[in-house]
Amino acid sequence: MCGITGVFAPGHDAARLAFFGLYALQHRGQESAGIAVSDGGTIRSHREMGLLSAIFDEDILSNLSGYISVGHTRYSTSGSSIVVNAQPLLESSEIGDFAFAHNGNLTNTDELRETLAPTTILQATSDSEVLAKLIVEGDGTMLDRICSVMQRARGAYSVVLCTRDELYGFRDPWGVRPLCLGELGDGAFVLASESCALATVGAKYIRELERGEVVRITKSGVESRAVDVDATSGLCMFEYIYFARPDSVLNDKTIYTARVAMGRELAKEHPANADVVMAVPDSAIPGGIGYATEIELPYVEGLIKNRYIGRTFISPDQQMRSRGVNLKFNPVVENLRDQRVVVVDDSIVRGTTTPRIVQLLREAGATEVHVRVLSPPIKHPCYLGVDMATYDELIGANYSVEQIREKIGADSLGYLSLEGLVHATGRKREEMCLGCLTGTYPNVPTTHESRRAAS
Ligand code: 5GP
Ligand code: MG
Repeated sequence: MCGITGVFAPGHDAARLAFFGLYALQHRGQESAGIAVSDGGTIRSHREMGLLSAIFDEDILSNLSGYISVGHTRYSTSGSSIVVNAQPLLESSEIGDFAFAHNGNLTNTDELRETLAPTTILQATSDSEVLAKLIVEGDGTMLDRICSVMQRARGAYSVVLCTRDELYGFRDPWGVRPLCLGELGDGAFVLASESCALATVGAKYIRELERGEVVRITKSGVESRAVDVDATSGLCMFEYIYFARPDSVLNDKTIYTARVAMGRELAKEHPANADVVMAVPDSAIPGGIGYATEIELPYVEGLIKNRYIGRTFISPDQQMRSRGVNLKFNPVVENLRDQRVVVVDDSIVRGTTTPRIVQLLREAGATEVHVRVLSPPIKHPCYLGVDMATYDELIGANYSVEQIREKIGADSLGYLSLEGLVHATGRKREEMCLGCLTGTYPNVPTTHESRRAAS
């Protein structure tokens, strides 16, 4: 995953715009964050481990002066969780310095690494650095180099890149990860993983970048080039299920609308005899509302999520653990006591969250707990950027629905069908990557090593 932003905004504070844009994308990665800024002459950057709000303050932002920026918030899948893997990466090349931020996962990193000059020293352990070095070692203009890399790089990559006086954005030929373009007016433009970040910085949404498209943004405006690679469309379905923020727009429709429709489909496929419907906050809320609307039962808040939990660096002590203290959720007892409860969640991945939720609801007095899931069982690993790497860890790959129901301790369990899910998104099945659900991935050539890493 990861969230990325690119800003080209003469007369504006590009670091501040990056900061607020990334703040809106914090849900895409909480491990590290960084911003690189160019003032037209020099590129400066700051990156650290942790959340945006803990990394950046007024002092740091005011040292990052300039009108062009790229920003990144990281969720690691390839490369370990250390600061050298934080982005943006800064690179020097014979055509000048540039900063680079990547969302996605390459599937032919090893093959690409072997084409780099033997003298090239890699500091990071991520696929992103290989991509950046290929641009450093390329020929011709920056646009030529990017296009050439896009002919060779396989897998998921939405990238923003800035030189001293230009901003580039590009999206892999499969279109696995999102990237969109917005405008601030007077020749100022913003690129972001999701449209919610455009709204936050006051930019008007223009459009999504096409798969296989590069945009170059300069003082003359936006120039676009299409790269011709034999690729089938493969936007990640997990963006709809879990990742994207509900107020973001994909395919001219908010994720919220798609999730409500997913909940409605789920209620049609798996109704329940119950008194109330609730959702596991926050990601399942629109789906829970859709389910309740369709089945004509009251929607209640059954669990309140602590908004400040983010990543917990301090682990609870043994006494707290033995008391089963749940740091993330507290039940709203009045909404649950003596009720037959439908609890809607977006996905079951490893199966760690759901049994705890069921237990929490029972302890709060629910007489029956019916779990409904807004996606089909996750049965296959992802090697395109979601952290579900092995068959072993996926509960849906190893147990039947009835066995899972028993393991999570629910009275009943129902998963949304693939047809229902696809229908709810309003998209064609062929244009999505459904790899984690079906085991069939878009035609992304994958080297043996990345397959092995994923399974
Ligand atoms: P599980 O506990 O079954 O492994 O994960 C399912 C829960 O984690 C769901 O509530 C879902 O909202 C959330 N979830 C799904 N995918 C991801 C992910 O990639 N990262 C994180 N942090 N949470 C996820
Ligand atoms: Mg959740």
